[in-house]
Amino acid sequence: MSAPPRPAEHGDLPLEEFERHATQLAHWIATYLGSPERYAVLAPVAPGAVAASLPAAMPPEAESLDAILADLDRVVMPGVTHWNHPGFFAYFANTASVPGILGELVSAALNQVGILWRTSPVLAEMEQVTTGWLRDAMGLPREWFGMLTDTASTSTLQALAAARERDATLDIRERGMAGRSDLPALRVYCSDQAHSSVDKAVITLGLGRANCVRIASDGAQRMRVDALRAQVEADVAAGMRPMAVVATLGTTSSTAVDPIAEIAALCERHGLWLHADAAYGGVLAMLPERRAMFAGLERADSLVVNPHKWLFTPMDCSVLWTRHPDVLRRAFSLTPEYLRTREQDVALSYSDYSFQLGRRFRALKLWFVLRAFGLAGIQARLRFHCALAERAAEWIAAEPGWELLAPVTMSVVCFRHRPTGVVDEAALERHNAAILERVNASGRVFLSHTKLDGRYTLRIAIGNLRTEERHVAEAWRLLREAAQA
Ligand SMILES: *Cc1c(COP(=O)(O)O)cnc(C)c1O
Repeated sequence: MSAPPRPAEHGDLPLEEFERHATQLAHWIATYLGSPERYAVLAPVAPGAVAASLPAAMPPEAESLDAILADLDRVVMPGVTHWNHPGFFAYFANTASVPGILGELVSAALNQVGILWRTSPVLAEMEQVTTGWLRDAMGLPREWFGMLTDTASTSTLQALAAARERDATLDIRERGMAGRSDLPALRVYCSDQAHSSVDKAVITLGLGRANCVRIASDGAQRMRVDALRAQVEADVAAGMRPMAVVATLGTTSSTAVDPIAEIAALCERHGLWLHADAAYGGVLAMLPERRAMFAGLERADSLVVNPHKWLFTPMDCSVLWTRHPDVLRRAFSLTPEYLRTREQDVALSYSDYSFQLGRRFRALKLWFVLRAFGLAGIQARLRFHCALAERAAEWIAAEPGWELLAPVTMSVVCFRHRPTGVVDEAALERHNAAILERVNASGRVFLSHTKLDGRYTLRIAIGNLRTEERHVAEAWRLLREAAQA
């Protein structure tokens, strides 16, 4: 038999091209990161504009990398919202740091597919080690088991899947939940400030959204433990089965911190799984002087923190820790014949702890970031961001006509403009929404809003690596100008 004919085009592009273009791109990226302020923070495009600028069909013939790279500025950049911009104060910041970008580059090149330990020993073991470093730096119990996922939404989904599996007598893994009269309603509790990813996890797990019970928060947006206790007791009395509580440490609207120690005590008394959602603020546990607000966290059953928020790791990277890896494993381990290996009893395969089979080498960029900044470097940056937020809060509090709407617990400031004489909430909402529009239209900064206690609230969220005091000052100047317009 003769070998199949070699087509004219086969194999990868030449490596000389890779080197040449990688060098060119390194320069392009450095230029971009060196002056993100050339761009408006929010992409100045109308819906559909990017799609309209692209050809309707894929290229019939190969195009040169030169042509593709030339289109970065023409096609891609106009549709980019600049999360790397120092004036990005919306939601929660997420910066692509230099070490994080380099880690991603190498990760793409090595193309590890973490299925089993043997399909990438370094992926499995570096993930164990880096999540362990972070756990220790945050003062969490050493026996906690860590893993990386794409987002906090996935981490919380997995944690609640484990919570559902903890009582093996329910036999949900085998028998499911539908059509069973023997199953009580399984209840999950979180505050009215908790992230929507909790509802989505409950929906996805088939528990029913009605069983995601929102507990009232107090005047500072913290879960009211008396209300939680009353709800749990009422549910038990009604024949329901309380399953888990999700406590938020750093809520998405105002970074409030639920009273985790009291919640933990209640969970222990009722046998509830306690999942802590510290997607944004958890990294603050790396600061000894801030640790007090996390006291009791060590009693949680699981915890999520996102390095892709305030730990300078490019999207995506979320850490899930649990002190019950055995339960997580019981929920997800399933080894078909073709995945059996002789080392499976001694070596860690993350697919045993997750609904995903393959996983990418996220630990590499985290390893780059943790090493390149070091604990002291990370602490210094977090302290700086908190100090900038406190500075902004001082400016706002001191300015007539402006008011703070929540305590500054981390690096987010919640506030609004209230001109003398205006008391109607609807009028205040229109006024502040107009301020937000004007400020964001400047292209210099990007802020977002929320509602606290029914009040329309502006937010400045600080956490970008490149933000300096002058950027916060500019946001404040733009806000005051917009309020007078
Ligand atoms: C951002 C955030 C989430 C969701 O994070 P993703 O990684 O986008 O899923 C969940 N909870 C809290 C408290 C957050 O701040």
